[in-house]
Amino acid sequence: MSVVLGIDLGGTALKWAVRPPDATARDLIAHGSMPTGADRTAIVAAMTDLVHRVDVEHGRVHAVGVGVPGHVDRATGVVRFLPNVSGDWGGFPLGAALRRDTGRPITVLNDARAFCLAELTMGAARGRRDALFLTLGTGVGGGVAVGGRLLVGSDDRLGEIGHLTYDRSGPRCGCGNRGCLELYASGPALVRGLRERTGRRPDSPRAVVAAADAGDGPAAEVLARAGRAIGETLASLCAVLPAEVAVIGGGVAAGLPALRPHIERALAERAEFIGPVAVVAAALGPMAGALGAALAASSHPDEPSGRA
Ligand code: BGC
Ligand code: ZN
Repeated sequence: MSVVLGIDLGGTALKWAVRPPDATARDLIAHGSMPTGADRTAIVAAMTDLVHRVDVEHGRVHAVGVGVPGHVDRATGVVRFLPNVSGDWGGFPLGAALRRDTGRPITVLNDARAFCLAELTMGAARGRRDALFLTLGTGVGGGVAVGGRLLVGSDDRLGEIGHLTYDRSGPRCGCGNRGCLELYASGPALVRGLRERTGRRPDSPRAVVAAADAGDGPAAEVLARAGRAIGETLASLCAVLPAEVAVIGGGVAAGLPALRPHIERALAERAEFIGPVAVVAAALGPMAGALGAALAASSHPDEPSGRA
């Protein structure tokens, strides 16, 4: 049997998923996660080892999709900008390197666009025409679907909602701008927000969410600010895109119940102009990015993809 391997490269974990090439269901043959390697060489070696391991354990890998948390040239698989992964990535031909080391066709795309592809094809936005997507994690990623198709740009930047300016007088972002949405709605932003307010040092974004759920005032304020930032950004986007739904995923989306009222309030304030927008949780769980990378590598009809 031949299979498709999807890889979701993150700042701390590398997740992977194996699926049949032509499956229409979201069922995975196998999936897993490992810590992200310390540098570029280690990360590429880990991906190559994974291909060989899947060959032996689950069936010959006939194509590989890799989602990376930054900009990548879709046609060539060259990485342009990867702010949250250690190593020197700018200009690195990841697609060609993996192609050389594995002998398989490689599709490289942005991690959030992989997530969107999965959620649009078989998750929370299935059957929707116009939709916005946000992934709240170490960074804030996103995507835009119009007419039931994910919009794709050449360097896979289309959908970088996390780097829209929310507050021009805000702190400096990893992208060079000031006050990007990411600085208010990412996991590190929640941790930093609670520390700044209280001097406490929560050990994870989930701890901030748990504190808010338990009635902690400052934690609730941090989530309110994040929700407000997300809602206002989505409302602005909806002024130009008639989205019927906004899909929210990523690790921080565990805090969606606390974020939701603030997101919805900001959307409601502009409802007369933008119409109703349903705010829904992503449906596919933590493997959505890896699944979407596999879908992209399967030359899914929804996905015009470049390959190395
Ligand atoms: C990056 C995006 C990425 C997102 C989620 C952001 O900081 O700029 O390209 O999709 O993080 O990983
Ligand atoms: Zn930014």
